Amino acid sequence: MTSTATPVHYLGVDISGATLRAALVTTTGEVAARREAALEPNAVGAQVAHVVSELRDTPASIAALGIGVPGLVNPETGRVVVSTDLPAVVRGDLRAELQQATGLPVTFENDANAAAYGEYVAGAGRGSRNLFYITIGTGIGGALILDGRLWRGASGFAGEVGHITIDPEGILCTCGNVGCLETVASAPNIVRRTHERLLRDSTSSLSRLGMTKDFTAADIAHEANNGDDFALLMLERTGRSIGTAVATVINLLNVERIVLGGTIMDAGDLILQPIIREAGKRSFQPCFEATQIVAAQLAADAVAVGAAMLARDAT
Ligand SMILES: [Zn+2]
Repeated sequence: MTSTATPVHYLGVDISGATLRAALVTTTGEVAARREAALEPNAVGAQVAHVVSELRDTPASIAALGIGVPGLVNPETGRVVVSTDLPAVVRGDLRAELQQATGLPVTFENDANAAAYGEYVAGAGRGSRNLFYITIGTGIGGALILDGRLWRGASGFAGEVGHITIDPEGILCTCGNVGCLETVASAPNIVRRTHERLLRDSTSSLSRLGMTKDFTAADIAHEANNGDDFALLMLERTGRSIGTAVATVINLLNVERIVLGGTIMDAGDLILQPIIREAGKRSFQPCFEATQIVAAQLAADAVAVGAAMLARDAT
């Protein structure tokens, strides 16, 4: 039977990076339309309201707006209370501003939580009920879904896997601890370790990475894909550190799926396989055997899709 009723969609907006990404999302998590723009950190409210008005120009009716933010959201008030990357969203009452501008119910969610929920509903988490999501890029974040619901923890920071200690004698982390996973395996730290090793390791002498000063983590992945042994070694070692943290997650939570996203996962199997191998070595086997460790599927859409689906659930 075909229905002629106007379809209901949800709008998700990701303001967690340099690019604002908005998506019009169906009730089951498919992206029907997208908009992107360079984020204007001091005019976020006006910018989001503008993108909403653009995406409204479709036959679908929009039921709610969800926004993924790089910060902490108070679950009682729904307000963004901490955001070191985007202080302007904490100062005003962005929710009230957007509700007034759009006439839609507005919800906020931490970006890693939103991405995890996006993958859970419409990506690599489909079919699971218990999932841990890790995003590895400029920083390392994580989020936990237990029995189909986001588990935010006592203060909203559950899942901060980037600050698990990997090297007790390592370097100082932005959080104040020493040797966090993030100080080893985030994109800038992969680059840092690669520079250090280039200076002292004879196996690096044939690497193309040695010929340029300004390489990025993406360049390391690119050279690894071209068969550069030194770049492969750096990804392998990075995967081992991430796998060590993944083993801790597996032992602690016995989740059925771990979904790995973020720009570092663009290296594909070259990073995923060392992660799985190390997690297998270091975790309690009955837990490990019950866990699938997979790459995320939604790429840059994850936060917007998850924010839209959380807005769906709130209405
Ligand atoms: Zn830390």
